Amino acid sequence: MTGPDEHVRLAPHTTLGLGGPARWFWSVTSGQMLIEALRWARDAAVPLWVLGGGSNVIVPDEGLDGLVVKVALPGVRIDPVAADGTVLVHVGAGESWDALVSAVVAAGLQGLECLSGIPGYAGATPIQNVGAYGQEVADTIIAVHALDRATLAPLGFAAAECAFGYRTSRFKAADRDRFIVTEVTFRLRIHAPPALRYPELRRAVEALPGYSSLPQGDALRAVRAAVLALRRRKSMVVDAADPNSRSVGSFFMNPVLDAAAVERLRRRWSTSAGSGDIPVFPAGEGRTKVSAAWLVEQAGFPRGTRRGGVGVSPNHALALVSLGGTSAELLALALEIRTAVEARFGVVLEREPVVLGAG
Ligand SMILES: Cc1cc2nc3c(=O)[nH]c(=O)nc-3n(C[C@H](O)[C@H](O)[C@H](O)COP(=O)(O)OP(=O)(O)OC[C@H]3O[C@@H](n4cnc5c(N)ncnc54)[C@H](O)[C@@H]3O)c2cc1C
Repeated sequence: MTGPDEHVRLAPHTTLGLGGPARWFWSVTSGQMLIEALRWARDAAVPLWVLGGGSNVIVPDEGLDGLVVKVALPGVRIDPVAADGTVLVHVGAGESWDALVSAVVAAGLQGLECLSGIPGYAGATPIQNVGAYGQEVADTIIAVHALDRATLAPLGFAAAECAFGYRTSRFKAADRDRFIVTEVTFRLRIHAPPALRYPELRRAVEALPGYSSLPQGDALRAVRAAVLALRRRKSMVVDAADPNSRSVGSFFMNPVLDAAAVERLRRRWSTSAGSGDIPVFPAGEGRTKVSAAWLVEQAGFPRGTRRGGVGVSPNHALALVSLGGTSAELLALALEIRTAVEARFGVVLEREPVVLGAG
């Protein structure tokens, strides 16, 4: 029986590089270790936080007085191709997400190509139904395997039981902090064309010479390369050489409004001398998604805004970046932006990352 490490700095385990130490820290690489860690926290009666790749969390500056379990469970199994041309891929929660995407694209499997370049671990992807460039993991996940934190029982959820929505799932909402994801199963397709639903990506790919005559495998690789190039331009690929990638990606979600709320927003915009159209996208069921980046910029926070050691990325209005600051500074800037957007537009921005220890 092993045990946790003590007084471990958490900042290096996050993409923001911020936050204080964990009183106890346990990186678990097997199901047995995970159960030991959960039992240890229960016996010691200390709070427990779950960490993956640390790309969507904010750690408080004072640290966390409890056990942080880093779910580093390895393993990728790819089933044989089924008669209908689909392939099941079973992925341990601790596998690097982008290494997985790179591997399945190289193997000619379609379904994850637009999710290239997203940091973190595979086990966290169902939590907020990770998505980008017109694709989200809910499109291909068929099962999520997890451990119940209270009973230690292993459970399996079919996709339909996960309550996936825009940047959410049951694991982030109704059952928050109840389960630890141990493995995710994706159904990918062989001989299927890449998903080109997002106009910016479609334009970039179609401009590539000879794209339309590429064989399927090469087309998937071209889409992955195009996504990575688009993301790099926005500092949305974690890169030690790019200080503007020290973020959690998008800090706020795009608000999804009903027709009456959109009408109120438009009236408020036109009566406040606003010019130009508000960028909106259909979100299904008569609802409309409003660009949070636009709201942030129009509320007085252009790209490159600085507040002490933090700021708004010069390359993406939704990315709040650490430039040697603190978690408290970052959260203060987020609150300032949220308050200004609400005052100007009457729209409340919701935070995307999780503040560990915030209850
Ligand atoms: C530069 C950058 C770009 C990004 N771009 C995107 C993007 O395009 N689209 C997008 O959706 N997201 C994006 N993100 C956010 C982030 O990468 C994803 O949300 C990612 O899935 C988080 O994975 P992680 O392993 O780092 O999770 P963490 O940050 O470690 O954890 C996130 C949350 O999930 C929980 N969690 C983690 N692992 C488990 C587990 N095994 N079981 C139960 N709970 C768990 C944690 O407790 C926490 O609440 C971006 C982030 C950065 C830094």
